[in-house]
Amino acid sequence: MADKEKYLTKLFGLKNLHKIEVYLQNGGYEAAKKAIKTKKPQDILNEVKAANLRGRGGAGFPAGVKWGFVPQGVEKPKYLCVNADEGEPGTFKDKYIMSHNPHLLLEGIIITSYCVGIHQAFIYIRGEYEMIARRLEKAIEEATAKGFLGKNIFGSNFDLEVIVHRGAGAYICGEETALLESLEGKRGHPRLKPPFPASIGLFGCPTVINNVETIANIPFIMARGAEWFTQIGLPKDGGTRIFGVSGAVKKPGIYELPLGTSLRELIYNYAGGLPEGKKLKAVIPGGMSAPVLKADEIDIPLDFESLMKAGSMLGSGAVIVIDHETSMLDVLRVVSKFYAHESCGQCTPCRVGVAWINKIVQRIAAGGGQPGDLETITRLASAIKGKTLCPLGDAAAMPILAIVEKFKDELLDQIGSLKDN
Ligand code: SF4
Repeated sequence: MADKEKYLTKLFGLKNLHKIEVYLQNGGYEAAKKAIKTKKPQDILNEVKAANLRGRGGAGFPAGVKWGFVPQGVEKPKYLCVNADEGEPGTFKDKYIMSHNPHLLLEGIIITSYCVGIHQAFIYIRGEYEMIARRLEKAIEEATAKGFLGKNIFGSNFDLEVIVHRGAGAYICGEETALLESLEGKRGHPRLKPPFPASIGLFGCPTVINNVETIANIPFIMARGAEWFTQIGLPKDGGTRIFGVSGAVKKPGIYELPLGTSLRELIYNYAGGLPEGKKLKAVIPGGMSAPVLKADEIDIPLDFESLMKAGSMLGSGAVIVIDHETSMLDVLRVVSKFYAHESCGQCTPCRVGVAWINKIVQRIAAGGGQPGDLETITRLASAIKGKTLCPLGDAAAMPILAIVEKFKDELLDQIGSLKDN
């Protein structure tokens, strides 16, 4: 993608972009001003729906449709919760947006809140992002001093307060209803759905929950229109994505590319390919919960539909590249240990099943593999998939099933050689 076509990360190299004066010198807050001064909330909603902006957190639900579910004309307050938990292993794009350009996120929050009729918004940020949380608070102070947040913003009769709330680092609090529980001061346990947060969310009130990158797209849709947005990327999947590439590549980092760019192009043309002497073995294309792809499966467009058809998912856009020297048993060990640790324990298939798989995998890694272990892992993971209260069960089961299915021979070899030693 030519640099001129980037929009989310275009200004990232600019010195002091996180300060409001620099953001303003570069057209900052013009879209929010335009929205509040000249647009009706319904016009904004129509524009975001027409843009086909799909959520950038993992599930890919269309943002405009989600906002449209919030009931209007009710007595209760409505809330916006920006999901800045970013706990999916391999994912680090939102921290770049928030640290480089916090005012872009605030501008998106203003437009979203005005559109949905929200007067209080929360940024739920993972506890480890301490410096970024402080930077966001400073940005809120600056925007409030300019009259862009607080009472009667941009001289209108619209009020908006934004609060930064730091989580304590549990992966499960990135699940939207666990996030709400945590924000309410409770243990981060996911809720049963329905009801969905759009009708009964934070403190029992209608709530919009969107990821940081999703909200950061809003000022651009407002400024340049839905047609421009859908022309970048795909008609049903508008805009760019920020992909975070890590693992065995020469140039790990973030890359903003149109949806539909191929995975091969991302790895070889942008991230520099693998280091000398390394060969590609596998790629996890959307954060650790995305089922792994083998080296011969990377000629695939990076968009929600294509990856779903390939049996994986775009998820959080975190691409983890695995070279030929990495043991897939090690990958399986890391995946199962992580999910066993992060299961909240509310439902049996996830609590017991993932812990059981982890025990088997750790035993295999310690040289105690037994005939039938891989079949037991497959049976357990199949009993978890689709049978749990929240998506963490699937997030654990799907990558485990894919690794065992696609790398069965390697795992069997390793079980044999570990036993021989
Ligand atoms: Fe908790 Fe796992 Fe059940 Fe989700 S699937 S509610 S994380 S036990």
